[in-house]
Parts: sequence; structure tokens; C-alpha cells
Amino acid sequence: MSEKYDVVIIGGGIIGCSIAYYLAKRKFGKIAVLEKDQYLGNGATAKCAGGIRAQFGTEINVRLSMLSEQKFEIFQEETGAEVQFDQVGYLFLMTTEEHMEAFRKQFAMWQRVGHPVEWLSREQIKKLVPPLFVDDVLGGTFSRKDGIGDPHQFTQGYVSAARKLGVKFLTEHEAIGIYHSGDVITGVVTNKGEFSTNCVVNAAGPHSRQVAAWLGIDLPVRAYKRQIVTTAPLDFITESFPMVVDMSSGLYTHKESGGLLLGWADKDTPEGFDESAHPDYTDAILEKGLNRIPQLEIAEIKAQWGGLYDTTPDHHAILGSSGVYPKFFHANGFSGHGFMHAPAVGIVMSELICGESPAIDLSALSPHRFAATTLVEENTVI
Ligand SMILES: Cc1cc2nc3c(=O)[nH]c(=O)nc-3n(C[C@H](O)[C@H](O)[C@H](O)COP(=O)(O)OP(=O)(O)OC[C@H]3O[C@@H](n4cnc5c(N)ncnc54)[C@H](O)[C@@H]3O)c2cc1C
Repeated sequence: MSEKYDVVIIGGGIIGCSIAYYLAKRKFGKIAVLEKDQYLGNGATAKCAGGIRAQFGTEINVRLSMLSEQKFEIFQEETGAEVQFDQVGYLFLMTTEEHMEAFRKQFAMWQRVGHPVEWLSREQIKKLVPPLFVDDVLGGTFSRKDGIGDPHQFTQGYVSAARKLGVKFLTEHEAIGIYHSGDVITGVVTNKGEFSTNCVVNAAGPHSRQVAAWLGIDLPVRAYKRQIVTTAPLDFITESFPMVVDMSSGLYTHKESGGLLLGWADKDTPEGFDESAHPDYTDAILEKGLNRIPQLEIAEIKAQWGGLYDTTPDHHAILGSSGVYPKFFHANGFSGHGFMHAPAVGIVMSELICGESPAIDLSALSPHRFAATTLVEENTVI
């Protein structure tokens, strides 16, 4: 074996980088992050829409988001990196009684947990975001604590802060196997040689299932393509234009370089690693966009791309020790929310790896929950 590390993190996306940073802050020891790509943060993190919100359907997701939002707010102070967390707010629009009922329940939970959200009428929504078509809207929820951020800036922020604390980021290092002796992890094999370690974190995003399989673990994480479109600048987009989520169609949109970024999850997309942007998918997004923002008719397409969600059956992340191998940890399955949860995940995973009780009760995200007959689903997914 070549070099010895106290922990090897497989995956240099925002999750691996955040965990490395928070472990280094705790002076955990020698830390290596292995990234198969030439660049860090070039996987799902680079495809992300940048949305940050705590308006979720389950308490665990709200708590992860609230902790993350606190950390995004003080990121610059904490890491020294120049970043922008633009708290323009998230506006959810409801057009059915079913969604109104579900959001009323969530609203009560947000109040109990302490996430500040306003309930808005159709008239208030129109006043807040005049370009929206609202004739079919029954109501909406809006939180000014939520907003958007640049995943690249935050990832690089973690990387430079972690480097200063001694973390080794090894790009073009593809992990291809994990050694163990009984239930004790002993090392990681890569295309560039072997690394000796007793602790491994699987932060391989949409590829986490493959990594877990090396140890005979069947991780229920599946990759699904999701697509995004951006427009050239539009004169009706203001600085305060929030993230808008249309619950009836699943469309989400926020301001982007003077224009709009629009996305939508086509639930009929088959599982797989294809990330190519398909024109039919783009058309479907634009059609939903036009229905909600008629002025989009004049929009010029600037860019379109596909990326992968790492999805679990209940749309909750998988965080914690694999159990079979106590020092093989999972941090994956983010189901479209890994950017916004990255700060909290870095904190709680570093606590777990250091053998402490995490600040947030993680039982709802346990790798072992899938054996239960019923799972608690996160339904506010886009
Ligand atoms: C279109 C789209 C829009 C999204 N919008 C949002 C949003 O608005 N808000 C939000 O919070 N989230 C959003 N997400 C989800 C978010 O991007 C992800 O949850 C998050 O980036 C996951 O980070 P990660 O580090 O786990 O994964 P990744 O960024 O994919 O990082 C995993 C890394 O592991 C590396 N890797 C894999 N296998 C190996 C190996 N064997 N050896 C070495 N390295 C390996 C990969 O190259 C990759 O760099 C979106 C995702 C997509 C696709």
C-alpha cells in the first residue's frame, strides 16, 4: 500500500468537499478526497440549479435545510471564500385543493420547527411576481430565508478552506475497489495505486450504488436524468425575482444572468447515466414555462443541459455507517437536494465519523430504513 490516510472520501462533488472540510476543521487527521474527473465538483454539482430551500414535507429535510441556510449565510466568514447566497425566496404555487391541504400541513410543521414562511393569496402572489399567470392559482407559500446560490462557488470555497487545513484532493484518481479484512476496511484501490485507510466515505453521487456494490452492499440509489434550460436576458426579470415552483406542473424557475433558468423533472425518464440534453425535454420545459409566464414567448434559449439526480425510493438522503462495515459511511441519495443540504451533511457526517452523536437526529436517513415495510416519503420534490 502507498500512503496511509485516516479517511478516504470517494467523490469530489460538493458533498465530499463539505465532509472533508468539516472533518479537517475538527482536526480529524489525514484526509484524502478521490475524484475520478479532472476537476472537482464536475458531476451532479456542476449541473445543479442552485436552489436552496427549507420548505420540505418532512421534518428531517427542513432541519437539514435550516442548518444549511445558517451556514450558507455565514459561509464567507467561516471559510474566507467569496460567495453569494441570494435570499430572493422560494415561492410555491398551488392550483389544486390536494396541494393546498398538503401545504397547510407542512406550513404548520414549518411554524413548529421555526422556518419562517408566509401564506400568500393569489393577489399577493401577483403583486410579488407580476409576470406570473395566476388565474388558476389557489394560494402559495413564500419564505425569504430560501434562495439561490452558485454550487461552483460554494464547492471551491470548501476546497480552498479544506486545502489550507491539510486535506489532499486527488483528481483523476478513480476508486475501483475497497479492501477489507472481515468487517474492517483496510484500503482503497484506484487507477493510480492503492491507499491504506480504515475509514471510507461513499460520496460518489449518482455512482454511489456502484461503489457500495464493491462491498456487496445493495444501495437503493438510482440515477435519473433531469434537464435545465436558460434564456438570454429578459427585460421583465428583476433582481428580486424569486425561485418559483409550480406544483401543478412541477416546473421550477429562477433568475439567471438577467434571464431565467427553468427546470422540470420528467418522471417518465428511465433510470440510467445518459446526461445528454434532449430537444423534446427542452420543449416540454418551455411549454410549462410559457403556461406560467406568458412573456416567455419572446425568450431566446441560451443554454440547455442534462444532469443526474441520485434518487432513493423515499426521496431522502442516505447518511450513516453501512453497519456491516462500521467504518464505511454513506453520504448519497440526495434525490435533487444535495447542494442545499451540503453544509449540514458535512457537519453531521463529520460528527458521525468522529464517533459523536450528530446535532440532528439522522434516524430517518439511516441506510437500514429500507428494510421497513413502509417508508416516509418526501413529497415536496421537484
Ligand atoms: C439538473 C439538476 C438540477 C439540480 N438542482 C438542484 C437544486 O436546485 N438544489 C439542490 O440542492 N440540488 C440540486 N440538484 C442536486 C445536486 O446537484 C446534487 O444533489 C449534488 O450536487 C450532489 O453532490 P454530490 O457531491 O453528492 O454528487 P456529485 O456532484 O455527482 O459528486 C460525486 C463525485 O464523485 C465522483 N466519482 C464517482 N465515482 C467515483 C469513483 N469511483 N472514484 C472517484 N470519484 C468518483 C464523480 O466524478 C463526482 O464528481 C440538481 C441536480 C441536477 C442534475
